[in-house]
Amino acid sequence: MARTDIFADDFSTTPWWWHGFRPPAEAPDALPRRVGTLVVGAGYAGTACALRLAEAGDDVLVLDAGALGHGASSRSGGQVSGGINVGKSPSGRPVDPGRKAALLRDAAEGFTLFESLLERHQIRCGYHRSGRLNAFWTPVHAAGWRGRLDELNRHAASDVRLIGRDEARAELGSDFYHGAAAIGRAGHVQPAEFYGGLMGAARRAGARMHGMTPVRRVGRVPGGYAAVTDRGEVFADRIVFATNAYVAAERRGLAPDLRRGIVPVTTHMIATEEMPADLARTVLPTNRGVSESRRVINHYRLSPDGRRLLFGGRASFFPLDERRTAALLHRAMVARFPQLAGTRITNSWGGRVAITLDRLPHIGGGEGRFFALGCQGSGVTMMTYLGHALAGKILAGGTGPVNSYDTGLPPHHPLYDGTPWFMPALGSWYQFQDRRDREVPR
Ligand SMILES: Cc1cc2nc3c(=O)[nH]c(=O)nc-3n(C[C@H](O)[C@H](O)[C@H](O)COP(=O)(O)OP(=O)(O)OC[C@H]3O[C@@H](n4cnc5c(N)ncnc54)[C@H](O)[C@@H]3O)c2cc1C
Repeated sequence: MARTDIFADDFSTTPWWWHGFRPPAEAPDALPRRVGTLVVGAGYAGTACALRLAEAGDDVLVLDAGALGHGASSRSGGQVSGGINVGKSPSGRPVDPGRKAALLRDAAEGFTLFESLLERHQIRCGYHRSGRLNAFWTPVHAAGWRGRLDELNRHAASDVRLIGRDEARAELGSDFYHGAAAIGRAGHVQPAEFYGGLMGAARRAGARMHGMTPVRRVGRVPGGYAAVTDRGEVFADRIVFATNAYVAAERRGLAPDLRRGIVPVTTHMIATEEMPADLARTVLPTNRGVSESRRVINHYRLSPDGRRLLFGGRASFFPLDERRTAALLHRAMVARFPQLAGTRITNSWGGRVAITLDRLPHIGGGEGRFFALGCQGSGVTMMTYLGHALAGKILAGGTGPVNSYDTGLPPHHPLYDGTPWFMPALGSWYQFQDRRDREVPR
């Protein structure tokens, strides 16, 4: 039976971040008839791509089906790092070491780009470079991380070290974990405010950006592409798909080849009410962000002013409303921080992330049609970087890989057409394995 006393009087199902930046929903009066590049999807990837293209003098139009940035980019946990989540190969198959090194170097480059964008465009978004913890669900997970330290420090300059249970307790204000990996080159940001800053920079560079304008169909025409929208047709020399997990749900939708390459997964977050100062000091006293080493992770961090806890994870693999997902996340939060049992929730929301079958993000394309997708649930820096890199590819004429993620479409599977019918069963299996690992550490 879900508890009802955990909800604050002003409980809302919009992301708490939208207090700082609300995705603008203004629709255009009219669309241009012809542009250089049409970007479909106005999250970090589409907006970073538009920014770089516009700065290089391209005539760029960005269209989003909803308000600008209303997808994952203004809903996330806002934790940032460069490479920590890269290269976890599915079913434990090792990734070739040379390729892994390149993937890590490029992901680290994404973190550098993120910080340089904040600096260059003077984006104020509550950024704290306070580091991050990957907290161990079982003692065995420390061994797995020990094997990753060298490559992360060598190729991604992650500044990561293992810490034992006592130090982890002091960092976290919780006795829940079996130690942690402490990552120095990491932090957290107010994700919607970061989006707002990026959007402002793209607009100032000359990109036109409009929300509430879904692109329904795209077809090849002589000299480019024709895009059908609810507000008329637009002709573009080039088209960029930056729709990530929000790619059309229909089988014959906008980009079936992209849809078949990603598994969209809904993930959830809650924000607590303001904690009294003495209570707030007991939770994450070093202000690091946290994610866990298990399969179905929880992740959390403090708000930029340190007074709220923002707590996320895949609350359920079955469709549930925001009050029920909030109740599940509240229970998980209290398991880690029993002192928060009486702390209520002001906001609960969900968003979609895109998983690929090889667990890697991808960019690619050619002949005027390009894409960036597959954030793996970790895309504040990565999708910004890939949008930026994709613009570089376009400016270089669209040929030749620009980085190690420029490998074309993600792999497809003959039994998968873009409808994640298996997720409830697979997710439940992962949750079962996590519980079993914790009870009987192996
Ligand atoms: C709850 C949650 C927590 C997360 N936590 C973290 C975190 O702590 N750290 C981290 O690094 N990452 C995190 N992520 C992931 C991160 O938010 C994403 O990787 C990133 O925002 C993806 O950016 P994007 O531009 O690729 O896609 P999105 O921001 O999802 O943008 C895609 C856009 O495409 C638009 N679109 C789709 N179809 C059409 C169409 N036909 N016409 C027009 N527009 C269309 C959609 O409306 C959407 O706005 C989290 C995600 C979620 C949901």
